[in-house]
Amino acid sequence: MKKKVTLIPGDGIGPEVSFAAQRCIDAAGVAIDWEVVNAGADVMEKKGTPLPEEVLESIRKNKVAIKGPVTTPIGSGFRSVNVALRKELDLFACLRPCKLYPGIPSIFKTIDLIIVRENTEDLYAGIEFHEGTPEAKALVQKIKELDPQAKFYPDPAISIKPISKAASERIVRFAFETAIKEKRKKVTAVHKANIMKCSDGLFLRTAREVAKDYEGKILFEDRIVDNMCMQLVQKPMDYDILVLPNLYGDILSDLCAGLIGGLGIAPGGNIGNGVALFEATHGSAPKYKGMNKANPTAMILSGVLMLHYLGEFKAADRLENAVARVLKEGRFVTYDLKPDRNDPTAAGTSQMADAIIRELRAQ
Ligand code: NAD
Repeated sequence: MKKKVTLIPGDGIGPEVSFAAQRCIDAAGVAIDWEVVNAGADVMEKKGTPLPEEVLESIRKNKVAIKGPVTTPIGSGFRSVNVALRKELDLFACLRPCKLYPGIPSIFKTIDLIIVRENTEDLYAGIEFHEGTPEAKALVQKIKELDPQAKFYPDPAISIKPISKAASERIVRFAFETAIKEKRKKVTAVHKANIMKCSDGLFLRTAREVAKDYEGKILFEDRIVDNMCMQLVQKPMDYDILVLPNLYGDILSDLCAGLIGGLGIAPGGNIGNGVALFEATHGSAPKYKGMNKANPTAMILSGVLMLHYLGEFKAADRLENAVARVLKEGRFVTYDLKPDRNDPTAAGTSQMADAIIRELRAQ
């Protein structure tokens, strides 16, 4: 029987990379019945909301979705569709493998690490107060009452950073279980507990407790986030699975994407209890919208993660191998993977997908 999967094309370069990925997944020999629903800036204009209820309904029903990037206005306008989806569906874990494929220029020989990012709390909780509002003033007043040492410049804007034991425990456990499933050796918890002793401190203390359940099976260590950034740039091969609170996970995902060839390569999946939504790490790159220029690899590799999740291991391996061969040959790849980014022989989004499909058919 065909598996039903929700496809959200997104906006900006989203539709181009999403439909390229859809074609490649179909060509990998797995029968999928796609249900296409729309979210994002374009939908906002028509429906008054960037995330119509039918999108959530479709994902809740099908349990598996793949999504192109969606633009989030900076500073004002609607809140992030991406964050809303993760919260509404309680997609608490973001899984982002960072693997260096042969053919991608790099100063490193191998990089093969997995980022596990907490998806539901931290500064992403969306609890924010604009400067000068009665709420922000009341909050400042309350904090001064609770902590007489607290000092503020006049009228600050405030964003709240909640970190709970429950959410920390489930993400760290998810990281260890991923380590076991993927036959990995080590989990590194990343934090700033030396400064944020309460929030990051709780994350670290919880990680240490959970790690005890895996003693003798999976190694555990921790790193302060600034040191972690330097170490990743110098010796990424020393790391295996990183588990991080939401904001550090977001930032280090892009850093690691840079190590493996850029955002055009880095896939991801957001996993909850019995429901999952797969999407590239990159955003909607609006300047390339409609130009058939963006690299579809990250979306296609997100499709590989999705096929794994669906238990379609053979199709997943075939698709990943086809992508790897196209990357290694370096001929039908997009501009971002050419040594000269202005190389006129660079493939377009759909031509790169065509090359991957040719490889699939040749297997
Ligand atoms: P971005 O990832 O869209 O772009 C960053 C840089 O990477 C740009 O130079 C872009 O051209 C390049 N890039 C990204 N994807 C590429 C691809 N597939 N091929 C080649 N080059 C690629 O990040 P941004 O500019 O910070 O964000 C643009 C919009 O996307 C914002 O509105 C942001 O909120 C949104 N965003 C959405 C998601 C999501 O939907 N999950 C994730 C991140 C950002």
